[in-house]
Amino acid sequence: MQVQVFYDRCAEARLLFPTRRRSRAVIARDLPRYDANMASEKTQAIVLRVVEFSETSYVVTLFTEDFGKIGALAKGARRPKGPFEGALDLLALVRIVFLRKSSGGLDLLTEAKLERCFRSARRDLTRLYAGYYVAELLSELTDEGDPHPELFAAANDTLLALDQGEPLVETILHFEVEALQHLGHFPLLTDCVGCGKAVPLVGRVRFGLVAGGVLCATCRLGQRRVASVSAAVVQALQEFATAGGNWRSLRLDPAIRGELRGVWNNYLAHLLGHKPRMHDYLGFLAR
Ligand SMILES: [Zn+2]
Repeated sequence: MQVQVFYDRCAEARLLFPTRRRSRAVIARDLPRYDANMASEKTQAIVLRVVEFSETSYVVTLFTEDFGKIGALAKGARRPKGPFEGALDLLALVRIVFLRKSSGGLDLLTEAKLERCFRSARRDLTRLYAGYYVAELLSELTDEGDPHPELFAAANDTLLALDQGEPLVETILHFEVEALQHLGHFPLLTDCVGCGKAVPLVGRVRFGLVAGGVLCATCRLGQRRVASVSAAVVQALQEFATAGGNWRSLRLDPAIRGELRGVWNNYLAHLLGHKPRMHDYLGFLAR
């Protein structure tokens, strides 16, 4: 791909994601002010969003290992020889020091050291979009200041796997599964979500999108939004959910990929309240 086309399309995706931005008035209200109550914290973080704020500053959204998602002002970050030395690139892994506001509003970033940049950002558009998708899920599924260290580890591992050329279909499915597991949204796949009885995984199985898992013949009656899926799809999801550290050796059977993505995309859209924005850019996630 020509370099210019690559950058034009990157810019296009950046405009689309993320779309929710704080207005300048809101940022001005939230600007951190030094006071004795601001505690200095150190942690690792993944850069989810970078918004130009002034001639010299950015407002950044970071998914941190110890404090969950935070919004912070990075003063002087846009200066050529600013204090962050180009560490605030999208999807970079950084080690940060920040001052926590005592209540609400933006934190103040005082230090950011680059640990690993997201190399796919400059090499492969689909992998860049897959990285944006990881950021979208982190951003949409978590609240500010709600720590999930295992989810941070999963996201970090996924970005690394994308950079290392691991297969996209499996890498992304595994991250989606892990994210939902760590956040308590993963569907129940072996026992009926209604009554708790084991559901035999043979033939077709009923999957309740609203109920959040498989349903037995009795409990599916009267349920809203119930999909019929082949047992192989449920088994594959279960396999990804239980693979642990061995997930990189998993391969999804191409014969069930479309069916799995169909029900899984619907389930994700139900959780988020809308279709994930990056799905339009990731053809391999289409059913
Ligand atoms: Zn039941």
